[in-house]
Amino acid sequence: MQISLTETAAELKAHERIVITAHVNPDGDAIGSSLGLMHALKALGKEVQVFIDDDIPAAFSVLPGYELIGKPEEGQNIPADLLVAVDVSLDRIGRVKEAVNAPTLNIDHHITNDGQADKLYLDGNAAATAEIIYQLIEELGVPCTQEMAMCLYTGLAMDTGWFRFSNTTPNTMRVAAALLACGAQPHVISEALEQRPFAEVQSLAFALLKIELLAGGKVAGICLDHASLQEHEAPEGLIGMVRVIEGVDIAFTLKEKEPGLCRVSLRSKGVDVTKIALKFGGGGHVRAAGCTIEKPCAEARIELVKAIMQVLEETA
Ligand code: 5GP
Ligand code: MN
Repeated sequence: MQISLTETAAELKAHERIVITAHVNPDGDAIGSSLGLMHALKALGKEVQVFIDDDIPAAFSVLPGYELIGKPEEGQNIPADLLVAVDVSLDRIGRVKEAVNAPTLNIDHHITNDGQADKLYLDGNAAATAEIIYQLIEELGVPCTQEMAMCLYTGLAMDTGWFRFSNTTPNTMRVAAALLACGAQPHVISEALEQRPFAEVQSLAFALLKIELLAGGKVAGICLDHASLQEHEAPEGLIGMVRVIEGVDIAFTLKEKEPGLCRVSLRSKGVDVTKIALKFGGGGHVRAAGCTIEKPCAEARIELVKAIMQVLEETA
């Protein structure tokens, strides 16, 4: 059932023991929104825990509360009277789903949200879930602290490509300005999160040599099979380098993270790439989506390219 922001605030106020979670393979918005909301609910006197079923990259230790994020163990039972999932549908929260037996409240900005939660607040116009969480904190009447601001600014900045993507709206900028006024430090956040290990920067050279251009240059992508990922770890943000190629509308990366399991990222300058991701059970936004294909790299590549060409033809 979809609910309003006011109802979302009321739902949070009505519960005492709250677990917050976000998607596996968490990004800045997933982590920042979880921690930002955690700080706000703690300010209201709630008992709050954040559990994410994945490792949290160390770069995020710049966010206050990073060390409090738990990872559920196999068979663990986490007592709570409300489970809040942010920046995700309930199908991508991993083990947290089994570990927490409580009513579910979902706060998201992905238009592909599956609506499976008991209560859902969905705002597809929000650039980031962090933008929604800021509005929610105002609705809750909690004064915004520097801790909250650092977390939410990170979510907002990272989901908008540091305020460059088409999802950046006047409201995004108003929220960002408010977060700066609350003490967010943009340079501290960007220096921590844009930092890369030496080997990873070097591996960019290796990955970029593998770029292929398809559909007369409208599509570009990089496929990295499991063997090459063993040799050179895939650099973060690789898709961003593909996306900027002149004439390219759809950019993709395909990484065989485990033998027979490929993670796909899709970006576009116009075409709705959720149409491609949804074909493989993924999702996301019109211009940024992703999915997992459970096939070896070469086969997954063929299926992905076929799906891209289909969507390109449909939209031509
Ligand atoms: P990324 O390429 O950065 O991993 O993801 C781009 C966008 O697509 C993000 O908003 C992310 O949440 C969404 N996304 C990526 N992979 C999946 C997936 O497997 N399922 C769904 N539903 N969304 C995804
Ligand atoms: Mn997001």
